[in-house]
Amino acid sequence: MFSPAAGKLTNPRPKDFMIAVCKDKILFPLKYHEIYRDATAFDIGIYNGKRLVCLNLPDLEHGIPLRTFFAEEEPEIAHIAAFASHLVWWRATYKHCPTCGSPLKEHDFERSLHCEICKADFYPVISPAIIVSVLKEGKILLAHNTGFPSGRYSLIAGFVEPGESLESAVHREVAEEVGLRIKNLRYLESKPWPFPNSLMAAFTAQWESGELKPDGIEIERAAWYAPSDELPDLPPKGSVARKIIDEWLAGYNGNAYKSFSGVAQ
Ligand SMILES: [Zn+2]
Repeated sequence: MFSPAAGKLTNPRPKDFMIAVCKDKILFPLKYHEIYRDATAFDIGIYNGKRLVCLNLPDLEHGIPLRTFFAEEEPEIAHIAAFASHLVWWRATYKHCPTCGSPLKEHDFERSLHCEICKADFYPVISPAIIVSVLKEGKILLAHNTGFPSGRYSLIAGFVEPGESLESAVHREVAEEVGLRIKNLRYLESKPWPFPNSLMAAFTAQWESGELKPDGIEIERAAWYAPSDELPDLPPKGSVARKIIDEWLAGYNGNAYKSFSGVAQ
């Protein structure tokens, strides 16, 4: 069982559990951590009764790509990985006060960094994003983003803008990226997406009106796919997008999809 701590700098002890983070790689549990004596270490919580320390390393030869690790590990370990990599990113990015430029210091007891000049506290930054499966007569909308590998298609997604609700962001992204209006928006689930600091909220909706019109900037191509169609290259397992697409393909019987007619059952 994992209980998160404030993420303060610490000195590792031999009896601690260790996790190592290096840019986009991770290793857990980390054995032989004595060789990383000079690494920056954070106390990130208690795991199965022992202190869990995260080492921030410049290189990690045997590390596993974070996306692979995140996709394959059980939820509690994925939680630890997301927490550790998010805190390492936050601590590495927020070194100085954004108002006066003074070095930020650890808060005495909470998970924040403090500016002694401005008397301001700065907390880990989380960027909310939405993702949505748009359904029409049993088909799902898949789109090729210009940043994707060639042939890869996924769901419509994007960051929430200041002043927006999650629901408004879904309507806006679908309208902007493919020119459609949607209805019957339903929340599905959320998932931390530590690349580097997103929280992804997943929705499903029905097409209401409009012809598919990719914006040509973010979305190059988009099309409706039936479950029986030959599908394009999909996002990797472990991603929120792939989970939603797989559940749709499997004839997901949860409440969210049940209410839609024409969905594969
Ligand atoms: Zn300041």
